[in-house]
Amino acid sequence: MQDKIILATSPSGPAAQQASWQRQLSNAIRDPAALCTRLGLPEAWLPGASAGHALFDICVPDAFIRRMAHSDPSDPLLRQVLPLGEETVTPSGFVTDPLAEADHQPAKGLIHKYAGRVLLIASPTCAVNCRYCFRRHFPYGDHAPSRAQWQEALDYLRADASLQEAIFSGGDPLAANDRQLAWLVGELAQIPHLKRLRIHTRLPVVIPDRVDDALLDWLESTRLQKVVVLHINHANEINQAVVDACARLKQAGATLLNQSVLLRGVNDSVSALAELSERLFDAGILPYYLHVLDPVQGAAHFDVTDEQARELLADLRNVLPGFLLPRLVREIPGEASKTPL
Ligand SMILES: *Cc1c(COP(=O)(O)O)cnc(C)c1O
Ligand code: SF4
Repeated sequence: MQDKIILATSPSGPAAQQASWQRQLSNAIRDPAALCTRLGLPEAWLPGASAGHALFDICVPDAFIRRMAHSDPSDPLLRQVLPLGEETVTPSGFVTDPLAEADHQPAKGLIHKYAGRVLLIASPTCAVNCRYCFRRHFPYGDHAPSRAQWQEALDYLRADASLQEAIFSGGDPLAANDRQLAWLVGELAQIPHLKRLRIHTRLPVVIPDRVDDALLDWLESTRLQKVVVLHINHANEINQAVVDACARLKQAGATLLNQSVLLRGVNDSVSALAELSERLFDAGILPYYLHVLDPVQGAAHFDVTDEQARELLADLRNVLPGFLLPRLVREIPGEASKTPL
């Protein structure tokens, strides 16, 4: 493992830099035993990790692991990625497509639920597999369009003049290569009624080297207004490399926002949420949404009740300036927007 780290960080120059995030991604830990060993977890954790892994693969790059405490199964970053035996338990109400997204796909790779904005599944894969993910059962094989297959989605966007914003989602859209992304952004920029490009991503956090020159090139040069919504759940995720990556995104003209998921055992305390907001602002990011967990099969052990969530937010309001308070929301299938709690 040690030489992989050195390999991934020692070369310099743009070409090496670009190879670096891809190499870090391909070297990610994808095996329960390797994850337990790397973090010095007692063997008792392995059966649960294996059982969860059988349902939804482990994937954790080393750059993220290095921010975790060694030998601490309750580390808030580890909890987000370590499968547990509880994932095999399915209380009623926890389903495979909690957002009923399958009902809102007018073209391949496209989800249109809300007025004025449309979501494009720009990459089927992620840089990390988060155990609470509502897309953990998503049939990604059906949603990784090639250039030719994007035409149907692009035609849809061209034909609907009420659309102002294209949102790159996934998977993690920044797991796609920059040639593909630059092409897609170029196509979008030619649609006159589109004003904004929004990118929902966890990659600049998980592998900060992802924010390299090739990415900044297309991001900086598009005429579209740019919003990057990062997904950060805990202050410990924000190290200096993340702060630097955010500075580069801002330099390229992006407005930076964050969305989190309220997760039991990760960030379900006033102190954790307050520290997260403070660290986000230090990195030039404004808190946007705090989502309650979507009731996806395998993630019930992360659930925080609505009552607790409301109480946490009320307490948070007493310790933070208003602009550092995220909006507490839930996604209800069929509603015209996220629903405030
Ligand atoms: C969350 C979401 C959006 C964006 O909603 P905002 O409230 O604008 O952040 C757009 N489309 C879909 C399908 C979504 O789930
Ligand atoms: S879509 Fe987001 S939350 Fe889900 S696994 Fe990927 S990075 Fe994690």
